[in-house]
Amino acid sequence: MDFQLSAEERAFAESVRRFARAELAAGALERAHSPKYPWETAQKIARQGLMGIAFPESEGGAGGTLMDSVIAIEEVALACPRSADIVQAGNFGPIRTFVEYATPEQKKRFLPDLLGGRKIMSLGMTEPDAGSAVTDLRTSATKKDGGYLVNGSKIFSTHSPEASLFLVYVRFGPGVEGIGSVLIERDTPGFTIGKPSRFMNGEEWSQLYFENAFVPGTNLLLGPGGFKKQIAGFNVERLGNAARSLALGRHAFNVAREYASTRKQFDRELCEFQGLQWKFAEMAVKLDAAQLLLYRAVANAGGGLPDAYETAAAKLACNLAGWEVSNDALQAMGGTGFSEESIVEYCVRRTRGWMIAGGSIEMLKNRIAESVFERKFDQRRHSREGGNPE
Ligand SMILES: Cc1cc2nc3c(=O)[nH]c(=O)nc-3n(C[C@H](O)[C@H](O)[C@H](O)COP(=O)(O)OP(=O)(O)OC[C@H]3O[C@@H](n4cnc5c(N)ncnc54)[C@H](O)[C@@H]3O)c2cc1C
Repeated sequence: MDFQLSAEERAFAESVRRFARAELAAGALERAHSPKYPWETAQKIARQGLMGIAFPESEGGAGGTLMDSVIAIEEVALACPRSADIVQAGNFGPIRTFVEYATPEQKKRFLPDLLGGRKIMSLGMTEPDAGSAVTDLRTSATKKDGGYLVNGSKIFSTHSPEASLFLVYVRFGPGVEGIGSVLIERDTPGFTIGKPSRFMNGEEWSQLYFENAFVPGTNLLLGPGGFKKQIAGFNVERLGNAARSLALGRHAFNVAREYASTRKQFDRELCEFQGLQWKFAEMAVKLDAAQLLLYRAVANAGGGLPDAYETAAAKLACNLAGWEVSNDALQAMGGTGFSEESIVEYCVRRTRGWMIAGGSIEMLKNRIAESVFERKFDQRRHSREGGNPE
């Protein structure tokens, strides 16, 4: 067992670090406070080769590994937390599921702009009555004249106010087996995007409405029976979410450590008080422990999709570590940490959301318990469709 990154991975991390410090660190606070997607920065990150890092070169990617993508998200987040969302969108988000299952024609049509940072894709999975119970989704796709008529609504989709393409989970028929997904373009007649609402983390989202929206057959991603494949692809998104939680926690930790090393009260540096030393010791161990679980899930995925249990364990540990460490970092910085002039309060708000997004920490524990007891636990009162599909 080797707990070191390889020589190539260390060199890659160093090159991303240099780029991020030189090009992204300035303006980090401003980007954090803007709900708008940082398009210029996205194009800069794309030119640096940090989009589609693990995608095949033949499809416009860099032919690297999932570990390289995680390293990129970490190094970018340590210089500019908000810019890590761009690395997520170009490597881990719905784009990863898309690359896994799209046809060559679909990839040719959509990937260049997505990987160039000129357009962005949003995931439409959650509905008003289908959150954790995602298989209760009702948005329907009915065959019609060489395509599908889509009816229903989605909420909470990240990047929805600005996305040009939506990967939408739909129901072709009853049960889990009836679920698949389609690609819906923003200008599709019958598709409307509501007024943006704002999460506590500053992110905006719009409700999506489909009223007989016609989606051509060429925009089918996965037909009936596609749900399990979609969730397998979604596990990569979860690892990106875990990596950002951890990286923002580490960012807040670094800022607070610097503060505690220089800020004086009672004529002593804060780090000389044991009450704070122990807080920092606990924060360091939480970050390191979560990092090991994240790297295990990523390393074991190899060139494929990650294991569901290892992903759930990594996301749970990183979500908790990211949030708890950011929150403790804020406390260690007093009023300065609580102020918008410090990026630490942003790290607290962002990491909080990832305990709900992409599988809440409770749903992750449900999944982990299934591995512990080696059986499925149906969350439903009356078994209709088998156990928790995640
Ligand atoms: C920042 C953010 C970004 C998001 N981005 C997207 C996106 O891009 N696309 C998208 O489709 N959705 C997105 N979501 C939605 C997200 O996937 C859902 O919020 C999540 O699945 C939880 O669903 P819900 O909010 O309806 O909560 P509910 O499912 O109503 O759950 C409420 C609470 O009950 C708990 N709970 C529910 N069932 C169980 C159970 N069986 N056992 C134990 N506890 C349970 C939950 O953990 C939660 O704490 C995002 C959400 C957030 C916060």
